[in-house]
Amino acid sequence: MSNIVAIVGRPNVGKSTIFNRLTESRHAIVDAVSGVTRDRHYGKSEWNGTTFSVIDTGGYVKGSEDVFEEEIRKQVKLAIDEANVILFVVDVSEGITEDDKVVADILRRSKKKVFLVSNKVDNFVRQGLSGEFYALGLGDPFNISAISGSGTGELLDAVVEVLDAKTVIEELEIPKFAIVGRPNVGKSSFINALLGKERNIVTPIAGTTRDSINTRYTAFGHDFLLIDTAGIRKKSKVEEDLEFYSVMRSIRAIENCDVCLLLIDAKLGLEAQDLNIFRLAESNRKGVVIVVNKWDLIEKETNTTKEYEEKIREKLAPFRDVPIVFTSALTKQRVLKAIEIAEKVNENRIKTIKTRELNDVMLQIIDRHPPAAIKGKHVKIKFVNQLPTHAPTFAFYCNLPQYVTEAYIRFLENRLREQFDFSGVPIQIFMRKK
Ligand code: GDP
Ligand code: GDP
Repeated sequence: MSNIVAIVGRPNVGKSTIFNRLTESRHAIVDAVSGVTRDRHYGKSEWNGTTFSVIDTGGYVKGSEDVFEEEIRKQVKLAIDEANVILFVVDVSEGITEDDKVVADILRRSKKKVFLVSNKVDNFVRQGLSGEFYALGLGDPFNISAISGSGTGELLDAVVEVLDAKTVIEELEIPKFAIVGRPNVGKSSFINALLGKERNIVTPIAGTTRDSINTRYTAFGHDFLLIDTAGIRKKSKVEEDLEFYSVMRSIRAIENCDVCLLLIDAKLGLEAQDLNIFRLAESNRKGVVIVVNKWDLIEKETNTTKEYEEKIREKLAPFRDVPIVFTSALTKQRVLKAIEIAEKVNENRIKTIKTRELNDVMLQIIDRHPPAAIKGKHVKIKFVNQLPTHAPTFAFYCNLPQYVTEAYIRFLENRLREQFDFSGVPIQIFMRKK
C-alpha cells in the first residue's frame, strides 16, 4: 500500500524542520514549479524498516496573509485526500491560535489518522505547557523538538504502526503498472486507447478528468493491473496546484506499482517535473518505461527517434538504461507495445540470476578489470550473489569492502546490465566483507 505522511499546520510551527529531520534531506525533492512562490516538499523516509513518503504541504503563497485561512483549508483538504497519515503540527511556544482551531476542526471531521505534534518542546518547562493542546480534540499530543530531534522516535514508532497495515492490492499476484505523468500528457487518452472505450472523460483542459481507478486488464494473453493517476478532479485554476496534485497522485501510484509508465509530451520533451517523477520511481526502486506520447505531432524529418532518445537519456543519467517508447494515444500507435515493454521490465525486476552463472560471468570480468589498489591495498572480490529482495540487489564479497570506490561499483553495475538484461530497473550493489 502507499505510505504517505503529510505534514500540516500554520506557518512557522516547524513543518519544514520536521520534514528535513524525517527525510534528512537526502531524498527530498523540491517541487520545481511550486518552488517559485511556495515551499512544498516531498521526500522519502524510513523508520525501523518501514519506508514512507513525507509531504510537507506547507506552501502558502508568500506575503499573502489575507487569503490565509482559505489557503490553510486547501492544504489540509489536500492532505486528507492524499495521505494515509497526517501530522498536525502546533507550536508549544505560542499555544493554540485561531488558525490551529481551523485546522483541528477540519481534521476532526475527517476519518484520517491524525497525530497531533506539539513542536518546540525544547526543554522540561515546555513539556508541561503542551497539555493545553488536548483542547483541540485530537488526542494526546506528541511532544517533540524538531531542532534537537527529541521525541521524534516515539512519534515515528506510532506512525509506522499505522502504516504497516496491509491492503488487498498488495496481495494481487499480477504485475501492477502505474500510468504517471504531468497533467495533459495524455494519460487518460492512453488508458482509453488501451481499454478501447471512452471510460474516461477526456477533455482538452488539463485537470478535468475523473479520479484514479485501478483496472485489471485481461485480454490478448495479458493480465495486469493498471494504476491510473489520470484523474485530477480538483478543478484548480492554479497551475502550480495542479502540478502538485499530480505529483501527490504519482507518489501514491508509484508506491503501489511494480513498473511505472512515465508519459511525457513529445512536443515538450523531458522536463524538470518529469524528471522529478522519474527520480521518485528510481528511489522507490520501481521499474520505469518512458513513454513519449503525442508522437503523431512530431515532424518525422527533423526528429528521429534516435536523436530524441539520446536527449532523454542524457537527462536520466546516471540511470540511463531505461526503455523509451514513442506512442500516440490518439492513433493508438504502439500503446500495446508500451505495455509489452512494461511486462518485460517487470520480468527484469523479479528475475533471479543463478549464483553459478553470476559468478562465472562476473568474476571473469573482475579478474580482467580488478579494482585499482588504494594506498597499497588490493581488493580481492571472491564471490557474488543476488539477494532475495523485491528489486535486483547484488552482494559482492571481498576482503576490503571499504576500499571499493563508487566508480568501481558503477563499473560493476554497468557490466551486470550488459550481461543480464536489467533494462528499466534500478539495481542496488553492496560490497560485503568475506
Ligand atoms: P514552517 O513554516 O511550519 O515550515 O516552520 P519552519 O520549519 O520553517 O520553522 C519555523 C521556525 O521555527 C524556524 O526558525 C525554526 O528554526 C524554528 N523551529 C522549528 N522547530 C523548532 C524546535 O523544535 N524548537 C525551536 N526552538 N525552534 C524550532
Ligand atoms: P491527461 O491529463 O494526462 O490525462 O491527458 P489527456 O488524456 O486528458 O490528454 C490531454 C490532451 O492531449 C487532450 O486534448 C488529448 O486529446 C490530447 N492527446 C492525448 N494523447 C494524444 C496523442 O497521442 N496525440 C495527440 N495529438 N494528442 C493527444
